[in-house]
Amino acid sequence: MNKSKIQLTTSCENIEIKYIFWTKKMKFFRLLFLILLCSCETGAQKVENTPNDKSEFEVQKSEQEWKDELSDLQYYVLRKAGTEPANSSPLNDVDEPGTFVCAACGNSLYETKHKFESGSGWPSFDRSIEGSLALSSDTKLGYKRDEALCGQCGGHLGHIFNDGPRETTGMRHCINGAALEFIPDKNQD
Ligand SMILES: [Zn+2]
Repeated sequence: MNKSKIQLTTSCENIEIKYIFWTKKMKFFRLLFLILLCSCETGAQKVENTPNDKSEFEVQKSEQEWKDELSDLQYYVLRKAGTEPANSSPLNDVDEPGTFVCAACGNSLYETKHKFESGSGWPSFDRSIEGSLALSSDTKLGYKRDEALCGQCGGHLGHIFNDGPRETTGMRHCINGAALEFIPDKNQD
């Protein structure tokens, strides 16, 4: 009787020890799981800042709708990430005060006061209107370039380089004129 009682106690202790060990093990796995979850979330935040999936944008239209609404050149640049020929855009010469909006959705992107003559043949700005862009990157030319997208419709605008005017931001937003429309300031004479 006593023997079986001792045996029972021992086996109970064994179970208890196993249980404690298992609980500790579970805590470890739970911790590991949490760490993994956190690193996944950090990754997700990065993706959110640089959307590659165009279904994330506020303005959504079918390819056919974009084709119907945009000119061939606008569609090629904005929806197919094409590049217009250098020196081809009439917006290169615009220097009057106003706002450059996305030709696809009307989102205000750039202002004349931040435009400068870069000599590249494309309208160039040293900064965008805050919060108007989404950034991505492409390696079409064999090296990584920061791609500027309209933050509202995801349309391709151009690229951003760090060889802009040193006296201001040092950045050069090299933008296709076909992706933009110019709206002069109303108060101008
Ligand atoms: Zn847009």
